[in-house]
Amino acid sequence: MAAPDLDTLVALAKRRGFVFGSSEIYGGFASTWDYGPLGAELIRNVKEAWWRRVVMAREDVVGLNASILMHPRVWEASGHVENFNDPLVECPECRRRFRQDDVPDGTCPHDGATLTDPRRFNTMFSTQVGPVQESAATAYLRPETAQAIFVNFKNVLDSTRVRLPFGIAQIGKAFRNEITTGNFIFRSREFEQMELEYFVEPGQDAAAYQAWIDERLAWWQEFGLDSSRLRLRPHGDDELSHYSKGTTDIEYEFPFGWGELEGIANRTDFDLARHAEASGETLTVFDEASKSHIRPYVVEPASGVDRAALAFLADAYTEQDVRGEKRVFLNLDPRLAPIKAAIFPLARNKPDLVKLARDVRARLAASWPVFYDAGGSIGRRYARQDEAGTPFGITVDYESLDDHAVTVRHRDTMDQDRVAVDDLHGFVAERLAW
Ligand code: ATP
Repeated sequence: MAAPDLDTLVALAKRRGFVFGSSEIYGGFASTWDYGPLGAELIRNVKEAWWRRVVMAREDVVGLNASILMHPRVWEASGHVENFNDPLVECPECRRRFRQDDVPDGTCPHDGATLTDPRRFNTMFSTQVGPVQESAATAYLRPETAQAIFVNFKNVLDSTRVRLPFGIAQIGKAFRNEITTGNFIFRSREFEQMELEYFVEPGQDAAAYQAWIDERLAWWQEFGLDSSRLRLRPHGDDELSHYSKGTTDIEYEFPFGWGELEGIANRTDFDLARHAEASGETLTVFDEASKSHIRPYVVEPASGVDRAALAFLADAYTEQDVRGEKRVFLNLDPRLAPIKAAIFPLARNKPDLVKLARDVRARLAASWPVFYDAGGSIGRRYARQDEAGTPFGITVDYESLDDHAVTVRHRDTMDQDRVAVDDLHGFVAERLAW
């Protein structure tokens, strides 16, 4: 199945309530997006899938949920104040700004004018903290969640029983004043990251780096991305970040071309060393075996929730010809699907049947997001749920009153099963097991 074009996806996302432009009634706000009812569930599930695999399933990883605002010195020590720059070029005619790497020939894509020499543009958002303008401290909205993990390294060490190798994971918002945004939710100024810092003894870092590349690639595949649209791209020496000894991106072939989903970096002990020096704290681990303090190296798999949502949507989008009619459905992994089951009473005016359908809804709603839809022909009701990616369509019909069973229609195959109402919860649970 060929990838849908981006416009098709954007239209579906808006029509069905996955993603809206932010502040739309005021004309929208540059490159910021809101997740609607279906999108909110989708990204909740993406984060759940990540957390379960990276934190819950493992004995060696713990979670963290830190503030977005942090002490300004964090960003000096981390190198972000000095190094978190994109080279910016400007068109003297139309005043448009570009990232230098987006316009390698140095001419404006709009009017062909020669662009200015590049200057460094720090992409951290700054803000004032405190009520009095003059004395207020300049703080930054975090451009990555990772630094909060390094800053809490000692707290986690002192409050838990972690031993090397161990990881600290976090999901949260990050902000970057990107010079050029675009491609829908692929690149925006406010986004959400899922990051793990995995601390190892120096010398074990190369093996951990490779292990996390393999593990993370497997996760993307397990949750449905087509292997032919996934690839690994190791960074060349010239593009490594200021902290990195090695970085490999997991890239996905989006409707607009290949783009980064996740970066796995060997950050060495750069961050802990910088924070130890700047704060005066000892950010080391005591090693019983060698009776010495060691400063761990760290391997970081860092991915984006929004890019994940876009990739899963793009990959799931399917058009099918059914007896001359186009059917559109999202074959999302059921665990990622926003709504797990839709309940369709076949008649609205038969109280017994409506009561049974409501009962079926309530039984499932205690565990999952489900949707009760009594409106329109059954075909139209199926079609609406297909576009939402709902894996199970459950019809309560006249016969249900006699046999206390319902018809379950499967989204991808349109096959149907007759399932006893009392077995329904188990039937759905089995297919949604993490
Ligand atoms: P890019 O090269 O695309 O700007 P990056 O290498 O700067 O990305 P990282 O710093 O490695 O990105 O951040 C980790 C992850 O955070 C990325 O893989 C991506 O999924 C996500 N991410 C980064 N910047 C953005 C953004 N502006 N909008 C949405 N997601 C982002």
